Amino acid sequence: MTDLSREAALALDAADPLAPLRDQFDIPAGLIYLDGNSLGVLPRATPARVQQVVQQEWGRGLIGSWNSAGWIALPQRVGDKIARLVGAGAGELVCADSTSVNLFKVLSAALAIAQADAPQRRVILSERSNFPTDLYVAEALARERGYTLALADTDDIPARLDDSVAVLMLTHVNYRSGRMHDMAALSTAAHAVGALTVWDLAHSAGAVPVDLTNHGADFAVGCGYKYLNGGPGAPAFVWAHPRHADRFWQPLAGWMGHAAPFEFTPGYRPAAGIARYLCGTPAVLAMAALDCGVDTVLAAEPLGGLAALRAKSLALTTLFADLVESRCSGHGLALASPRDEAERGSQVCLSRADGAYAIVQALIARGVVGDYRAGGVDLPDILRFGFTPLYTRFVDAWDAAEQLRQVLECGDWRRAEFNRRHAVT
Ligand SMILES: *Cc1c(COP(=O)(O)O)cnc(C)c1O
Repeated sequence: MTDLSREAALALDAADPLAPLRDQFDIPAGLIYLDGNSLGVLPRATPARVQQVVQQEWGRGLIGSWNSAGWIALPQRVGDKIARLVGAGAGELVCADSTSVNLFKVLSAALAIAQADAPQRRVILSERSNFPTDLYVAEALARERGYTLALADTDDIPARLDDSVAVLMLTHVNYRSGRMHDMAALSTAAHAVGALTVWDLAHSAGAVPVDLTNHGADFAVGCGYKYLNGGPGAPAFVWAHPRHADRFWQPLAGWMGHAAPFEFTPGYRPAAGIARYLCGTPAVLAMAALDCGVDTVLAAEPLGGLAALRAKSLALTTLFADLVESRCSGHGLALASPRDEAERGSQVCLSRADGAYAIVQALIARGVVGDYRAGGVDLPDILRFGFTPLYTRFVDAWDAAEQLRQVLECGDWRRAEFNRRHAVT
């Protein structure tokens, strides 16, 4: 509980060493944007960079820019930057395709390794509340390869690990609840029964410290348009532990993953290491925007990097959860993300039996942008608020809680306009 005043929140911002990082972004005036976990905001550097790539590199340099502007190496060059944020080594991670597609590649490779080393293992274990695309990709691969996809409730995952499990596939920070798994502990438990681990870092990369190398990950994928601020539909990334990267083809063999693409030979010879996880031509314009986005996170390195960002993220989410608890009580809201900071990602989720969608719409109309995630069997509807420590201020958390209080108090969320569903929630 807290009764922190707005003045005190402003004082926290004035004393925040990370506050200058906000200047890297073009945030609409007056807007409190708490949806950077779904689509990061526009970095100021991006429009000029994209314009330069379009007008100079493409317009003037044309095909020569594949060499002269280094287009061909963008997947590796941007990948090396992201590697620094997730505890991977240089040359171990590439940017390509989407998170869904990359998950297909790494899960296929993990199953191929399991098939070779321990063919009696027939189960892919995941979490029931995992992001649906992850479950759909796993379901399709399980059908195709003759595996079973087993879904466990969050707290039951360790107990479900046994010698039938080929691969444990999890998302590090849950998209709905904001709950963060202990990657080291679960990876150790998986390895103890002989299973491989695949981690989805969609809600982690750029938001929370991740140490793939030292925390037992075998494969990982992640998203470019959330906390990495790469822009809508930005390329995603893929990592394989170096001990696995060379072992198998991933199934989307394409020329960019060939050992010598410009020899144009009819037979596929996979490139060494992670480069074989590329398939086709990189999306150069999108990759240029992603590069700018990743740079906004790397700009925190001289200020303490992800450890400092994490400390601020926890301070923001704790403050918001406390303010909602003290100022919005009696309106049927419940905290749906973990109180325990060690288990919390960079978002706060609130549940409510009804009206969650309309309350989010009413908040957006007041300039506080969060989002809504539908409930389902055993799951309540969720109001979701992402806190991006690069650009979210303490006073934003305070004002958002106050706007939420006003929306609940005056009940204007009941109006028809706030209850009309859009295609994207
Ligand atoms: C956002 C997100 C995705 C998105 O996948 P796309 O292929 O970019 O649509 C996938 N998995 C998780 C866990 C996510 O949070």
